[in-house]
Amino acid sequence: MRIPSPVGLIFFCFVVVARGADQTIVLKAARLFDGRSKALVQNGVVIIKGDKIIDVGSNLPTPDGAQLIDLGDATLSPGFMDAHTHLTLDYTDFNKRRLEELSLNVSEHAIRATAFARATVEAGFTTVRDVGSRFVGSSEFVDVAVRNSINKGVIVGPRMLVATKGIGATGGHFDPTSGFRDFLFGREPDYTEGIVDSPEDVRKAVRFEVKNGADVIKAAVSGGVFSLADEVDTPQLTPAEIAALVDESHRLRKKVAVHCHGDQAAREAIEAGVDSIEHGSFMKPETIVLMKNKGTFLTPTLMATEYIMGKIGSYPPALQAKARAAAAARSEMFRNALKMGVKISFGTDAAVFPHGQNAKEFALMVGLGMQPMDALKSATANNAELFGIAQKLELWKRENSQTSSRCRAIRLPTLQLPSGFRLS
Ligand SMILES: [Zn+2]
Repeated sequence: MRIPSPVGLIFFCFVVVARGADQTIVLKAARLFDGRSKALVQNGVVIIKGDKIIDVGSNLPTPDGAQLIDLGDATLSPGFMDAHTHLTLDYTDFNKRRLEELSLNVSEHAIRATAFARATVEAGFTTVRDVGSRFVGSSEFVDVAVRNSINKGVIVGPRMLVATKGIGATGGHFDPTSGFRDFLFGREPDYTEGIVDSPEDVRKAVRFEVKNGADVIKAAVSGGVFSLADEVDTPQLTPAEIAALVDESHRLRKKVAVHCHGDQAAREAIEAGVDSIEHGSFMKPETIVLMKNKGTFLTPTLMATEYIMGKIGSYPPALQAKARAAAAARSEMFRNALKMGVKISFGTDAAVFPHGQNAKEFALMVGLGMQPMDALKSATANNAELFGIAQKLELWKRENSQTSSRCRAIRLPTLQLPSGFRLS
């Protein structure tokens, strides 16, 4: 089917303010995206009782006594999920951020994070997998605090799955002291900051992060762009360390997301059984075939490179070279992943670009050849599977109506999809 006005297409994500446990609200709109199907449903209806969605479908009758909200020529959608955010960080100005590492109290970072969380949910993203939050020289778990405060209703934000500090090698992408003079912070970081140099260290770091509230384990298995002491594609954990990472995380029922640009590191991580490769810029076709066979997700984070390349001159020269190399490789890698049918999870790397612009990733994915419905599903059904919350969230599923999806008790503004985004 063809949507008449693709540029002005409006999605309403859970426009719900529940006033009482028994109040029923019926949302109607011209179309409905249910998160799973291949096509949009016409004459979409969503029925909400209290704070739960109890039914979803086409032309459903309005129950007696329900409040009807007719949204007209719009498309109803479940809230989107972003598999790669950093809600406690702001890297939109890299040099300023480096200075603020040294000058800002961690409490001030946490207060800023509350604004980033609000911007994200108001942009239509009701669940995020937040894959790393660390402040040099600080033992604070700011992402855990933000997640808990959202869950308790203290602040407004998306449902968060947090990774705490992430795990990486000395001098690698996650080493918070890289690029500062030696011993500026008095000591080398250790497992309490996610820095590891043996399989034993890896297990200790995983246990320490889970103890302190991690929902998911993140590790850097290759170099990265925003780090000053490494090359972008070198492997940074050994196969034995990655094996320990996957084994310990899975024993504790945590998924493993790995930051990875380089091909060798990706191959080793996929073979070891990680759940998702984040970025994946330099992955060769053979490695992508391996991903497909192992069922590993790819979280492409196209927005990160896009934003960096738009202001490339503002980054330190060493970072510029790394960003250019990653940007030059990632489009072909993404097209190959599409061609080979790899599972794609929608993820943006929000923090590299301003929080709240997550939806622009849809346009980039479609621009590189992804079908619009597949792009939408990457941010709903695919991410629910990757996050391991498909059963808990119970995406709208008409044929199984005893399941229901919890509504966020928040009124979201309409989400304008980026220009160039088409549904057909
Ligand atoms: Zn990231």
